[in-house]
Amino acid sequence: MGALPTLLLVFSIFRISIAVDTIALNQVVRDGEILTSAGGSFELGFFSPDDSNRRYLGIWYKKVSTMTVVWVANREIPLNDSSGVLKVTDQGTLAILNGSNTNFILWSSNSSRSARNPTAQLLDSGNLVMKDGNDDNPENFLWQSFDYPCNTLLPGMKLGRNTVTGLDRYLSAWKSVDDPSKGNFTYRLDPSGYPQLILRKGSAVTFRSGPWNGLRFSGFPELGRNPVYTYEFVFNEKEMYFRYELVNSSVVSRLVLNPDGSKQRVNWIDRTHGWILYSSAPMDSCDSYALCGVYGSCNINRSPKCECMEGFVPKFPNDWDMADWSNGCVRSTPLGCQNGEGFVKFSGVKLPDTRNSWFNRSMDLKECAAVCLSNCSCTAYTNLDIRDGGSGCLLWFGDLIDIREFNENGQELYVRMAASELGRSGNFKGKKREWVIVGSVSSLGIILLCLLLTLYLLKKKKLRKKGTMGYNLEGGQKEDVELPLFDFATISKATNHFSIYNKLGEGGFGLVYKGTLQEEQEIAVKRLSKNSGQGLNEFKNEVIYISKLQHRNLVRLLGGCIHDEEKMLIYEYMPNKSLDSFIFDKTRSMELDWNKRFLIINGIARGLLYLHQDSRLRIIHRDLKADNVLLDEEMIPKISDFGIARSFGGNETEANTKRVVGTYGYMSPEYAIDGLYSTKSDVFSFGVLVLEIVSGKRNRGFSHPDHSLNLLGHAWTLYMEGRSMELIDSSVGDIHDLSQVLRLINVGLLCVQCGPDERPSMSSVVLMLSSDSTLPQPKEPGFFTGRGSTSSSGNQGPFSGNGITITMFDGR
Ligand code: AMP
Repeated sequence: MGALPTLLLVFSIFRISIAVDTIALNQVVRDGEILTSAGGSFELGFFSPDDSNRRYLGIWYKKVSTMTVVWVANREIPLNDSSGVLKVTDQGTLAILNGSNTNFILWSSNSSRSARNPTAQLLDSGNLVMKDGNDDNPENFLWQSFDYPCNTLLPGMKLGRNTVTGLDRYLSAWKSVDDPSKGNFTYRLDPSGYPQLILRKGSAVTFRSGPWNGLRFSGFPELGRNPVYTYEFVFNEKEMYFRYELVNSSVVSRLVLNPDGSKQRVNWIDRTHGWILYSSAPMDSCDSYALCGVYGSCNINRSPKCECMEGFVPKFPNDWDMADWSNGCVRSTPLGCQNGEGFVKFSGVKLPDTRNSWFNRSMDLKECAAVCLSNCSCTAYTNLDIRDGGSGCLLWFGDLIDIREFNENGQELYVRMAASELGRSGNFKGKKREWVIVGSVSSLGIILLCLLLTLYLLKKKKLRKKGTMGYNLEGGQKEDVELPLFDFATISKATNHFSIYNKLGEGGFGLVYKGTLQEEQEIAVKRLSKNSGQGLNEFKNEVIYISKLQHRNLVRLLGGCIHDEEKMLIYEYMPNKSLDSFIFDKTRSMELDWNKRFLIINGIARGLLYLHQDSRLRIIHRDLKADNVLLDEEMIPKISDFGIARSFGGNETEANTKRVVGTYGYMSPEYAIDGLYSTKSDVFSFGVLVLEIVSGKRNRGFSHPDHSLNLLGHAWTLYMEGRSMELIDSSVGDIHDLSQVLRLINVGLLCVQCGPDERPSMSSVVLMLSSDSTLPQPKEPGFFTGRGSTSSSGNQGPFSGNGITITMFDGR
């Protein structure tokens, strides 16, 4: 959660509040007088954005203590003194007059028609409207400020066009924080091809939202159900616009386009916290328009970020290798509109720029493919709407540009390829590729393909079959889990009959073995100890949760194995084992330079965000620690061990247990003391983990010659004394961006604050990690003294520092 720099620094207004929201014909609002909306949400009057004489007529929040202007009338022509007057004229318009020269109209609203009794009213939505008498029907408004946005999109405002009248409502940033005149940046719904929101600096595109796909804009994978606002995209013969509404009207939330070109959603918390960042675009450098050029694809978790799509090669390989990706990629085999051309399906992408596209709402995907194939300049297609299995057709013509890959909520794109390109394998690194063959492929090819497929399936079947495991969730609800079942002989053989030499480690429900399947696939096998009562519960829990989850930062369950009393789970093997074996080891920690640590922290944050917010179940892990983060061959972190995880349904956000389970050193105070767990108790553990990764020291068992604080207390003290640099592990080597490390320490400390409400959500954490917004100063952490001393924030009494997951009954 970042306390944001407020837009207006020193506002000067002289206040004479007039308790009305309306002015009638020939009535005026003078400089110093303030109109207040009926519900007390907004005010209108003259103001100066700094301590100069420049006076503007604007609308601002009444209830927000940091003056925040949401609309300015005369943004290009300020008054130079306080003689300004706002008047309702008999032409049915609003005019700002210079009081010393009443004939001089500085600014005026236009009017669609004349009115008998023109009246101006400041509505409680922040909309200043001109109407005829008491005609409150919005359709009949003579004029409204919502049609002429400045830098702010308020709830209910439309961002987009009326195609009948030509009215185009778009955001334009202020020139600077104290100059409301139009700056360089605009954010506008672009109607060419299929509409998308485009952020421009001058005429150059800097970011695009991508097209609307029925659920969200293609480039906003995180846009989904949320507690703050609902949103809609309307696109018909008359109108195309985006609009949002607040779920709870007492929340103050706005979308603002800042002078630096960042578009942010911010929520007002209170005088202490100020405006808090909720979401932001551009999100990261992959959001920079066309970073990887045509047919290049950007992946923020990859190094280098840009890669040519499969079937394409860099246009200028030398430039490409030097990270100049702007010229993009060209086809390995040019298209010639020949027989045999087909499509390759790329998954998980942000759809390319749609300004050169065509759409049809009624076609299905098959028809879409056929139309694309029949037109030689059509380069790609996909469904227009992804809901209910997909419908409609979106076609691209010409080069495809501004493509990026998402871990989640990316879309499918079918790209046209020459016949000879349809046989290659691969896709974006680490992703599966699928072929979509449309058109004339020889029947021999099809027979061969079927044969190969049958052989592959037969081989797979021999190895595993699908099975159902029925388990009871907490509360007695029965849960059936479909899981591929391996036969016992296969697993026994793969692990050298559970040889001690294959042992990888020991966890909550038993030993873990390394195994190798017939096809050389390496696996990790968790074997439930036969006499473990609690282990059985954890085993079931793990099956229920992890089998339903899929994310790049969660360990993947491949299947299970049940044989008489034996129960086993089979995972993808993580060659680099767990994170603790790196960060707390003097030698191995040197393999983790700062960049790797930063990527690991980011990955864990994303995995946790998925659990908390984006997965089908809302899951609290309850035992996040370095030992439960596994690392794959590329050091990508995978959260594991769901043995004590819990899920929340509906609007539940917090639960209480008498059986406190977790790990000493990672548990939040409210969970350890009162048994209260929520997503915020995971955030606490995440904060501990961040400080451990940065410092290379365990929180549990931390000692320092100068004090008896634990790692959290130590980090906080250093932070308060401006010495955070001293926390950094000496093994990390050179640091190119010290501010990034200091930022991470700040985020870690925000996460371990004592009160759950003080801690940021994981979505805020992910944002803080990827943006440069100003961060709030953390308060004292919970549990910040070491063993043998008493913390003012909590009592560590009941724990023993044995380093493994502990269980406490009657924690309350
Ligand atoms: P767990 O039961 O998940 O806590 O696992 C215990 C230990 O087994 C871990 O700390 C790892 O060292 C090892 N382990 C667990 N799962 C895997 C895996 N998928 N790949 C490699 N090692 C693993």
